Amino acid sequence: MNLQNTMDWLAHRAAVSPEATALIEAEDGEKWTYADLDSAVEETAGRLAGLGLRAGDHLGVLMETRMASVRLVHAAMRLGCVLVPLNVRLAKPELRRQASHTDLSALVCEAETESMAREIPGDVPVASVDPSPKTTLIECERVEFVPKQWSHDDPQVMLFTSGTTGNPKAVVLTMGNLFASATASAFRLGVLPGDRWHLCLSTYHMGGLAPLLRSALYGAAVVVQTGTGFDPEETLENVRKHDATGISLVPTMLRRMFDSEAPEHSAGSSRLDTLRFVLLGGAPARDELIRECEARNVPVCPTYGMTETASQIATARPAEAFAHLGTVGRPLMFAEITVLDENGAPVSRGTAGELVVSGPTVMAGYYGNPDATKEAFGEHGLHTGDVGYRDEGGRIWVLNRRSDRIVTGGENVHPGEVVAVLRDHPAVREVAVVGVEDAEWGERVGALVVPVGGETVSFESVREFCDGRLAGYKHPKLLETTDELPRTASGTIDRDAVRKRLR
Ligand code: ATP
Ligand code: MG
Repeated sequence: MNLQNTMDWLAHRAAVSPEATALIEAEDGEKWTYADLDSAVEETAGRLAGLGLRAGDHLGVLMETRMASVRLVHAAMRLGCVLVPLNVRLAKPELRRQASHTDLSALVCEAETESMAREIPGDVPVASVDPSPKTTLIECERVEFVPKQWSHDDPQVMLFTSGTTGNPKAVVLTMGNLFASATASAFRLGVLPGDRWHLCLSTYHMGGLAPLLRSALYGAAVVVQTGTGFDPEETLENVRKHDATGISLVPTMLRRMFDSEAPEHSAGSSRLDTLRFVLLGGAPARDELIRECEARNVPVCPTYGMTETASQIATARPAEAFAHLGTVGRPLMFAEITVLDENGAPVSRGTAGELVVSGPTVMAGYYGNPDATKEAFGEHGLHTGDVGYRDEGGRIWVLNRRSDRIVTGGENVHPGEVVAVLRDHPAVREVAVVGVEDAEWGERVGALVVPVGGETVSFESVREFCDGRLAGYKHPKLLETTDELPRTASGTIDRDAVRKRLR
């Protein structure tokens, strides 16, 4: 392939280090070099062309993460298609909505997802692939094509947000966004010869797709763990078996991995202690979990990011994470995070407000939704809907979502600020703070507390503790204790359930 004027990462990587390992199948240990991957991708791109796909077309992929889906990700880049990874766990109506919203030109699925794929509206061609053979993935004619000449502004991927605050939105990420994300991440985490990124997050989420793409740029290997449900023990074993050097996880996964460690690992060690980094993000990590990483010698890098920023935008190195418990570190190179008050004015360091992000990794916009795009961008960049602050040292702290904000008697209270104070109370092990509807005040601040074993936490002691630490209107007015905080399936606090306990 002519490498002039192309930004195809894999093509360049295969020319630079053809013998280097590109992929390792976690279960059976099958290894592909960059030369192997490159020729398989060239072949797959020809078959996609055979399906009638051309540069600029939207290629939907409805597959679990496996070697075959990795090939499709790179083949889309080779041909110049916009990759649209779709979540295999979606309910049929959700999938229909996402598929029609993204104007797919074709959809590739596998046996497990075929019945779902066949239900999408319109006459979108559906190709079911056989993930086993190494050379032919898609049964159709192989057609000659001209590899895409990428420029930075070309859309490369469309990925849906998680839909925590409403319907998932289709985020358009350009080649420039993904390139900037890969380089900024490397500046923070480093790239070393022999790096192996263990992939156990799904590639239809940013946290799974980003390491897969950027490894081709770095020349690192990806250990592909086929994702159908997360098995903590299997993942721990795979990390050791394949000498992984890095992994991306969400906090519940890491919690479950620590819980499943054999007794000999229970205190001061872990099978993750051979890694160079554990990138931990997607949801707030509890201080307890970060402390446990320190005790077990696990190099955790707490990370803040979102689909709209092509993954990480701030990341703490382990030493910083241990010294400043709860921080997600400073913004990555070229990224800026500004904290704004309710009127859109920047606030001073230490004051909480909405986090607004800018820089080369920030998305082009939401596909087919100019209103949402317009609403999201302001003078200082993309409004994240997250509340946090920067400390004197410039580190970022994420407190909560803006939609979790409590308005009591016309004053704004960020639950995270109250949580941060109450967590220091000697008899409090864990706490959740929510607004509880109130006829007089609009909302009142309520706290659900898990006491330290054997202790009781009285309303009086909490009030005394908050005096001098928090303004009076931020003090909890309702307090209950419990053995365990209610959590959602993804491990975040179930705020509605907390509210019900306090009513
Ligand atoms: P939607 O935008 O559709 O409501 P979502 O925001 O959950 O869904 P994602 O892009 O998957 O979709 O998630 C990004 C969000 O995850 C961030 O905006 C933030 O709220 C949360 N998040 C990510 N990392 C952290 C972190 N380290 N601490 C706290 N929250 C985090
Ligand atoms: Mg979001």
